[in-house]
Amino acid sequence: MSVIQSGASLMKIIVPVKQVPEVAEVEVDPETGTLIREGVPSILNPFDEYAVEEAIKLKEEHGGEVTILTMGPPQAKDALYKALAMGGDKAVHMTDMKFAGADTWATAFTLAQQIKKMEYDMIICGKQAIDGDTAQVGPELAELLGIPQICYVRHLEIDENGKHVIAHRGTDEGYEVVRAKMPLLITADKGLNEPRLPNIMGIMKAKKKPLEEVCADDLDVDEDELGLSGSPTQVRKVYPPEKKKGGIKIEAEDPKEAARQLVEFLAKKGAI
Ligand SMILES: Cc1cc2nc3c(=O)[nH]c(=O)nc-3n(C[C@H](O)[C@H](O)[C@H](O)COP(=O)(O)OP(=O)(O)OC[C@H]3O[C@@H](n4cnc5c(N)ncnc54)[C@H](O)[C@@H]3O)c2cc1C
Repeated sequence: MSVIQSGASLMKIIVPVKQVPEVAEVEVDPETGTLIREGVPSILNPFDEYAVEEAIKLKEEHGGEVTILTMGPPQAKDALYKALAMGGDKAVHMTDMKFAGADTWATAFTLAQQIKKMEYDMIICGKQAIDGDTAQVGPELAELLGIPQICYVRHLEIDENGKHVIAHRGTDEGYEVVRAKMPLLITADKGLNEPRLPNIMGIMKAKKKPLEEVCADDLDVDEDELGLSGSPTQVRKVYPPEKKKGGIKIEAEDPKEAARQLVEFLAKKGAI
C-alpha cells in the first residue's frame, strides 16, 4: 500500500466533510417511511466544523495547506464554501449521479480513490455525520488507505519531532492519550476546539479559491464499486421511534395515601 506523504515540515491536511440537513427540522413521511428533505436547510456537518478548525489551526502553527473534500450532490458545494470561508485553501467536489446512493463503505471507497492521488500528512474527519450518525466513514477510510487512525479526538498536539501526533481520545470511562506516526487519520469530537465563524473577507475569498470537480470517469475504478451498486448496505425503511406514553402521576396530597396508591400501582404491574 503506498501512502503519499508530503515529507516536508509544512503540513498537508485533507478534511473530508459532509453536507447534512439541519436534523432538528427533518421529519419522516409516515406513508413512504422516507425523510422529508424538501425545504429543509442544509449545513456543514457540525462535527466537520471541528475538523476544519483543527486543520486550520495546525496550518497556522506549522504552515502548510488544507484541502476540503466532499462527495455529494451539486448543492454540497455550499459546505465546501463554508469550510473555505473558515480558512481552507482549496476544495475537491466529487459529484456524479454514479456516486449517489452510496452507503458508508462505498462513500469511504470513493473518497479513498481520490485521496490516493493526493499528498497528505493528516486526514481529519468529523466523528460522525449528524444525519447518518454511523461514525463509520473515517475508520473505513483509514483502513482502505492503510494508515493509522485515532477516533473521537478531543485534544491534539504535534510531537517535538514533527513526525508523530499525541491525541486525547474520548472513551466511555474518560480519555486515553495516544501517540501515532503520521500520515494518519483522526476523527474530531466536540471539545477539540471552538470552530471560528467565517468573516466577510473569508466569505468573499472562498469563491475565488481553487475548487476541482471530480466525476466517476476520473477515477480508475469499476462503476459497480460506486454508489448504490457498490453498497453492501441498503436502507429499506426509515421510521421514528414509537413515542413513549407518559407515566402516571400520583396527585394525592396526603403522603400516606400517595404511598398507598404507589404500592397499589406497582403491585398491579407485578413489580412488587
Ligand atoms: C449524488 C449524491 C447524493 C447523495 N445523497 C445522500 C443522501 O440523500 N443522504 C445521505 O445521507 N448521504 C447522501 N450522499 C452521501 C453519502 O451517501 C453519505 O455521505 C455516506 O453514506 C456517509 O454516511 P454517514 O452519514 O453515516 O457518515 P459518518 O460515517 O457518520 O461520517 C463520519 C465522517 O466521515 C466524513 N464523511 C461522511 N460522508 C462524507 C461524504 N459524503 N464526503 C466527504 N466526507 C464524508 C465526514 O468527515 C463525517 O464527519 C450522497 C452522495 C452523492 C454523491
